Amino acid sequence: MDNLNKKLTVMAETTTSDMGPFGSCIIEGKPDPSTIVIVGASGDLTARKLLPALFNLYLNDYMPDPFLIVGCARSKMSDEGFRKKMKKALIDTNNLDNQKWETFAKFLLYRVIDYKSLHSFKNLADSLRDMDREYGTGGNRIFYLSTPPSLYKTTAIMLGKAGLSNEKTNQNGWSRIVVEKPFGRNLNTAIDLDRSLHKYFHENQIFRIDHYLAKETVQNILMFRFANAIFEPIWNRQYIRQINIIAAETLGVEHRAGYYEQAGILRDMFQNHMMQLLALTAMEPPSMFEAERIRDEKVKLYQAIRPFPTRDLQNYLILGQYGSGIIDGKKVTDYRHEPGININSLTPTFAGMKVLIDNWRWQGVPFYLTSGKRLSKKLTEIVIHFKDVPHSLFRQTLGEEITANQLILGIYPDEKISLTFQTKNPGAKLCLRSVAMDFQYHQNYSGPVLDAYEKALLDCMLGDHMLFWRQDGVEICWSFLTPILDKCETCQDRSRMLLSYESGSWGPRLLKRSKGEEPPP
Ligand code: NDP
Repeated sequence: MDNLNKKLTVMAETTTSDMGPFGSCIIEGKPDPSTIVIVGASGDLTARKLLPALFNLYLNDYMPDPFLIVGCARSKMSDEGFRKKMKKALIDTNNLDNQKWETFAKFLLYRVIDYKSLHSFKNLADSLRDMDREYGTGGNRIFYLSTPPSLYKTTAIMLGKAGLSNEKTNQNGWSRIVVEKPFGRNLNTAIDLDRSLHKYFHENQIFRIDHYLAKETVQNILMFRFANAIFEPIWNRQYIRQINIIAAETLGVEHRAGYYEQAGILRDMFQNHMMQLLALTAMEPPSMFEAERIRDEKVKLYQAIRPFPTRDLQNYLILGQYGSGIIDGKKVTDYRHEPGININSLTPTFAGMKVLIDNWRWQGVPFYLTSGKRLSKKLTEIVIHFKDVPHSLFRQTLGEEITANQLILGIYPDEKISLTFQTKNPGAKLCLRSVAMDFQYHQNYSGPVLDAYEKALLDCMLGDHMLFWRQDGVEICWSFLTPILDKCETCQDRSRMLLSYESGSWGPRLLKRSKGEEPPP
């Protein structure tokens, strides 16, 4: 809440006709002076996502003033060595402005840590105190856990024991901890991880990041639904036949074999990103645009999800694993021959799921959630399929079939909202055609755009939990998925449940659908 008070809401007058006479913008206050400590800073996430995001925030003048970024890991590196590594990472992802980089790099430091040694964490605490004095960062710290998940518990406890979670003894500075997905591997391990985090950190200090939530077009779902009067009255079972949520990738497992073999698609995509997209699409309107109220509504939605009938799983869940095939004109290998993957692996790389929500709004409306690797196209979108017209007055000339309306909320690659409807084809003949009314998200906007990690990091610096998971949401989603995972991972005919699909296709066969239900794209 303290952070929200820092946000200044301005009603900015604008002459742009499509925004109306007033466009409402929230202008973020500048974060407090602070130090961002990245634990596991020698790794992939830091190089590919975190450092580029922090540098872009700096270029757009969103970083705290002053700020420090302190990388920590076991690898031995000097400050200069860390800067060189990060500069190379930035050159790989960006066109680097050398002059700006030189100024930014002065605030990059590195400390070696040993995860098993309390002494090592106490040394880190001493260093951070010295840095606060030297750079004026005021004792405010974010600890970003960018290590393998197996180290989250130990690291959180060591930080606590070294006094780094304690806000009272910390020259009145704040202390926050950011945890990357996966939040456990099932319900029990998620609860266990949470207990360890809570040994030294309070809930308001914990930020469970899901960068999907910070994507502009994902955030826009709430604006679209709740800032327009015309869609909400038809956003229910009376008008909607089904909803498809798809997150497809063309990439395979890449360099993350160790992680992926343990996780598979259900833990990697469904327990977090897909459930968030489902919640934003289906939740009830909160009474206020405020972190806790939004998270309350998401939890209520998760509570209404009908548990999977594990005896009839094949009609609700399809699992697949990619075989070889062609992606972007190039031949690609099958999952089991990827480097680091077990040749007999039964890890799913595709899942299609039918989810039903037991509440008044959604009774009987199926939600099809589909996600997979090595699919035909990189695509993330939510498609709302409306019901057919109740009666076709054109049936004598055009037959009974009239294509129903569709609303597409495009997240990637097209950041758009598209509504399809029927019109008459020009000319003497009577025939209908489907046309689309398209809105491109960046239309008529030329200001800075924050990518997902930039937005999530900025919100964490500002102390805003809106885009982060709350533990009750994590646990309810695990309660839904854990029985499915147990069933899939322990059943005798596990290998028969896993269907092979060709790389570059749309996955294995579709779920059995009731009559009239649309398949995914
Ligand atoms: P890495 O596997 O690259 O590990 C990060 C660092 O942790 C390594 O550089 C290494 O540093 C240290 N480390 C690795 N294995 C061990 C070990 N067994 N014991 C102690 N230290 C070890 O992870 P990523 O950077 O890819 O990811 C970090 C976290 O973010 C993970 O939890 C991951 O699940 C999550 N994540 C990653 C994404 C990505 O795109 N990479 C996307 C979303 C989430 P050193 O040896 O120097 O100590």
